[in-house]
Amino acid sequence: MKGPTHVSSVPQTAPGDNQASTASIPNGETILSWVKDLAAITSRGTQTIDDHRSVNYLLNVFRSFGLSDIQVQEAPSLHWRADVSQLTIGSASIPHSPAVFCFDTGSTEFSTGPDGLTAAIVDVGDGGEEDFEKADVTGKIVLFNLRFLLPRSALLAVGEFLYDPNKTADPADMDTANPYLDNSEDVLERAINAGAAGFIGVLVDYFDSHDIRPEYLPDITVPGMWVTKANGEQIRTLVASGASTATMHLEGIRSPTPARTVIGFLPGRSTDTIMVQSHHDSAWHGGVEDASGTAEVLALARYYSQIPQQQRPKTLMFVLMDSHWTGYQAHAKFVEEFITNPKTPLRIVANVTLEHIAKQAEIGPGGTLQVFDRPEYRAVFENVSPVLKTVIEDAITTHDLQRTVRLPTDTLFPLIGELPTDADLIYQAGVPTISFVSGPLYLYDKADTIDMVYTPDLEPVAHAFAEIIDHLAATPNEQIGA
Ligand SMILES: [Zn+2]
Repeated sequence: MKGPTHVSSVPQTAPGDNQASTASIPNGETILSWVKDLAAITSRGTQTIDDHRSVNYLLNVFRSFGLSDIQVQEAPSLHWRADVSQLTIGSASIPHSPAVFCFDTGSTEFSTGPDGLTAAIVDVGDGGEEDFEKADVTGKIVLFNLRFLLPRSALLAVGEFLYDPNKTADPADMDTANPYLDNSEDVLERAINAGAAGFIGVLVDYFDSHDIRPEYLPDITVPGMWVTKANGEQIRTLVASGASTATMHLEGIRSPTPARTVIGFLPGRSTDTIMVQSHHDSAWHGGVEDASGTAEVLALARYYSQIPQQQRPKTLMFVLMDSHWTGYQAHAKFVEEFITNPKTPLRIVANVTLEHIAKQAEIGPGGTLQVFDRPEYRAVFENVSPVLKTVIEDAITTHDLQRTVRLPTDTLFPLIGELPTDADLIYQAGVPTISFVSGPLYLYDKADTIDMVYTPDLEPVAHAFAEIIDHLAATPNEQIGA
């Protein structure tokens, strides 16, 4: 343990009741056990049709902590799956992954038919407007470079505070980009508007994997596939040597399925409520994304469940979302029912979002994924008062959360038009937000197993955020926001 044991800083109001002094944050081993339990449930939430597995697990854990009014909020979401996916150029079968949520035909099933789609390949490079002006893509398969748009340097540049006592931030790491923001939405809109019949996206800013499941994109009406940088070069070589067409076989389903959000409460002395959030769904194992964040929420729920209600000035609400990969319908439904048109007397006065306790990753020699036994660069996005900004910095420092930047959302939001975390819709609904997150390269990849979790920080992150939550609880509501 890096920091001092956390004890509630909230003044005791129930004389003789000394339970608070015995309340403790679960240790790293316990938090890791929750990460492992969750990561063992692969393709959680809307990745599997009508999936109850992680929901049932979390309900049991919430019950064991004695949370109250435990509930599951459902929202209609989507499941997408390919049952057949083949890409052939000449006689070469090209390794690839189908682009999730492509080929939206307006019905449940999609299929390129028994003969597949055979069309000419048009290379549009990075797929800018000028690239499309030069090319006729009508009826053709567009080959483009998938570019990640948010390098670490951009995030660190707009940060107001960086905790890096050992000066480990390396200028050589600064160009590595977060896979969250990429050019696919713009390029595919151009391609589809110009009448393209399909697409092949080359993962030029990625390590040597095509097993990527990026964020949900609507309205992709044509079939598409992701290939590695090396296979992109292979395709370009084949095209240069005379292979002018590609054949795609893609069949699968796009089916309605409910997203399920697990919610539990620890009532306080008032109905003013601090929401503590992560998401339980996953693309594959999702060790970092987001078994780690979910386990941090569990750690805080466990800790506060040991503190008597009289010593909690505000209600605590623990929320584990679904539909991160399938359109954030769970988040939208939550905002509607608890913030915009609340059906309960609860008033959410602050949001704390915890995601991704991650090891640092880089593209290593030969394009391999290189993982380091140190924390990935990370950020606390916030729009809170100057006093609470200092509280965040103190918590980061006290609990030695190295390579963490504090970044005001007011600076970031105008640049990218969203908060690049699961807190986005809650933040946009006007709730003051503190969102801890990192964006390692493997975040959306099959490679995100429990081995990617930076376990030394599991306990310190919980300590730091318990300290922050205690301050949110003790701060008058009107003094929380920036
Ligand atoms: Zn996440």
